Amino acid sequence: MASAAPHPETVATLAHPSDRLGRPLGVLRLSLTARCNLACPYCLPDGVEPPGLLTLAQRLRVIEAAVALGVRSLRLTGGEPLLHPQLEELIRAVQPLRARGLGEIALTSNGLLLTAERAQQLRAAGLDRITLSLDGTTAGSVARMAGLADAAAGERVLAAVLAAIEHARAAGFDPARGALKLNAVIQRGANDDQVLPLAALARERGLELRLIEFMDVGSRNGWQSEAVLSAAEMLEQIGSSWPLEPLGRTAHGTASRWRYLDGGGSLAVVASVSAPFCGDCNRLRVTADGVAYTCLFAAPGSGLDLKPWLQEESGAAELELAMADLWNQRSDRYSEERNTAKPANSTRAEMAYLGG
Ligand code: SAM
Ligand code: SF4
Repeated sequence: MASAAPHPETVATLAHPSDRLGRPLGVLRLSLTARCNLACPYCLPDGVEPPGLLTLAQRLRVIEAAVALGVRSLRLTGGEPLLHPQLEELIRAVQPLRARGLGEIALTSNGLLLTAERAQQLRAAGLDRITLSLDGTTAGSVARMAGLADAAAGERVLAAVLAAIEHARAAGFDPARGALKLNAVIQRGANDDQVLPLAALARERGLELRLIEFMDVGSRNGWQSEAVLSAAEMLEQIGSSWPLEPLGRTAHGTASRWRYLDGGGSLAVVASVSAPFCGDCNRLRVTADGVAYTCLFAAPGSGLDLKPWLQEESGAAELELAMADLWNQRSDRYSEERNTAKPANSTRAEMAYLGG
């Protein structure tokens, strides 16, 4: 575990800490559970929770501290966050933090549990945005990418996600305002034939599709560079059917956005492998059991366990100091180092544990 003792200079930089590369803290990705109701082979969750899950009150304290340190965007993820029974309660409980600077509350989900009622409850609780994940448009491709037994199961998952999109839209998550998007991981040799069909599906439904390069997160997914379909290749495929113009990548964002010239909306690519964006990464990750990581590609056990600062008797200031100190010490830039002879981490914590 990283050192718990705050650096003396932390006190001076507490309000808005910068890391050693001058990057501010801006986004908190909070994993609510390491469990999932799918087993996508590129992610491979454990299926069990780690011991010592945070309580709702402890999660709130982590979010409060993060907001005090400059976090403006909260992303709730997992595992599958809709498996968490107190999700809506947590979203309701963080609303007062908007007055202290929290700007946006977003959820990333596979959508299987997003019924019409749940979508309305999430909206009513104060959720701003939902990103749903879908890696194919056919029963076979969905089954392959989601780790399902057969095409019949793929058909059921596909139907559930398509229904979830409409439930989210009906509940007020408006894709035209960026409140509803679609994520797709593309893996060469597995679903690279789905790039165009996914783009068509998203265009028909007025959604921004975010095509994600297959990443070497964790140590179980058998990642090889040959299995990465680069963002440039994806864009070439789509652009030859529907010409595109670049909109750029927003500061601290992960996605480079493109506009369809025929007025068919926008598209985004997340090129973490072929065009890393470590240079302005502002994301802190906190696992379901309260371990803070400053990089998606961190080594297992290298995070800072926040639980010592989350006991009933601990004060908010100490937690803020510990988190500020962690951020001040940060120098991660794994994706940029990936292609060098000695990447920083040869073993990495798993995606569902860290929160994608
Ligand atoms: N279960 C939810 C879901 O699938 O949207 C939230 C958690 S999941 C870990 C978050 C995002 O990470 C998903 O869009 C998923 O496709 C993506 N992801 C998982 N493993 C990945 C990998 N190896 N490379 C790229 N993206 C990955
Ligand atoms: Fe579950 Fe999401 Fe990982 Fe797929 S990517 S196994 S849906 S956590």
